[in-house]
Amino acid sequence: MNMKLQRTLKLVLKPTEEQKQILLETLEQYKFAYNYTCKIGWEAQIWNGALLHTLTYYTVRDKTSLLSQLVISARLVATESLKSAMKRKKKGLKGRCPQSNNPAIRYDKRSYTVWLNREEVSLATTQGRQKFKVKVPDYFKQYLDWKVTSANLKYDKKLKKFFLNITVEKDIPDVKPVEFFVGVDLGLRKLAVVSTLDRKINKFFDGGHIRAVSERYQALRKRLQSKGTPSAKRHLKKLSQREKRFRTAVNHKIAKEIVKLVPAGGVIVLEKLKGIRRRIRVTKQNRRWIHSWNFAQLQRLIEYKAQAKGIRVVYVNARYTSRKCSRCGHISGNNRKDQAHFVCERCGYQLNADLNASRNIVKNYLASLGGKLGHGEARPSVWGAVNRPDVGSVGCAMHG
Ligand SMILES: [Zn+2]
Repeated sequence: MNMKLQRTLKLVLKPTEEQKQILLETLEQYKFAYNYTCKIGWEAQIWNGALLHTLTYYTVRDKTSLLSQLVISARLVATESLKSAMKRKKKGLKGRCPQSNNPAIRYDKRSYTVWLNREEVSLATTQGRQKFKVKVPDYFKQYLDWKVTSANLKYDKKLKKFFLNITVEKDIPDVKPVEFFVGVDLGLRKLAVVSTLDRKINKFFDGGHIRAVSERYQALRKRLQSKGTPSAKRHLKKLSQREKRFRTAVNHKIAKEIVKLVPAGGVIVLEKLKGIRRRIRVTKQNRRWIHSWNFAQLQRLIEYKAQAKGIRVVYVNARYTSRKCSRCGHISGNNRKDQAHFVCERCGYQLNADLNASRNIVKNYLASLGGKLGHGEARPSVWGAVNRPDVGSVGCAMHG
């Protein structure tokens, strides 16, 4: 059975002044089509698509210059709104005639085309088909060969920007599982430490330069905050957006590198987030940046990228991962020489503390499968026993 992966990519349109007016006009007319169809449907209390079409199509075409595809699209969206509003009403809940002040235009493959590689889209408007430049972030380039399905055009009145959210799909064949287990320890000193029990992979993703960049942002922020002028406030807002983008880009990069290490059919073992938060000891100097590091986003990105490659992602309890010896299994709070070094007080095994933790993460996972072998080494006996993460059609916003 093939799995279908789905992603939503948020693109920013870069219309010319003239095109801006055309888009606003198109949105305005689409709004009319949507609201009008809702009104007619609500008055007649119907949500039957064909019937609504007959009742509204010619009037809408008459009163707007929308192409038939967009008239139909507005009717489809209105039909869905009417249906849910009437269902609510039937249940005795508050149901009102659906009306929207700023509805998104739903495009289908007959009314739009996107060329991610050319950073261009073509959209049906009141002036026929128009081509627009779009901003395509580098990490969207991985979706170049995905199938583009629907899209939504939304105008953000506050930002005065047009966003096109496009949905892309890819079929991926079921991948045969292989016995390849990678543990990922997320944390403070290193954002991620990745290892396999056979020691072929010991990889550190450093947080060093990230800390430096974050501190620079922090210093800038302080200066702007003390100014307190309107222009300083505007700068502050821009600054925080830029920092967020920087952090997201870092997470994308780390996730991509981690997934690259694992063959199709392998397993990436992550810790449940709760454990990470509990374990991370927040000192004053690192509180600022690490406290707000988006580990949830990093995990999500690892999942998404892994799925596309037929790699499974599983989560284990983070219990004892930092206090347990990954060689002999001895658990003690004294197993640490300091934060960075692990020294087992029983067998004397020494290694980097985060590396030790990441190996324990793999071990915890294998142990959860049962069937221990050798010196605490465990191997999976039943594949099906593993709780498979949701690898179906997950919609995901790849933007920050
Ligand atoms: Zn030991």
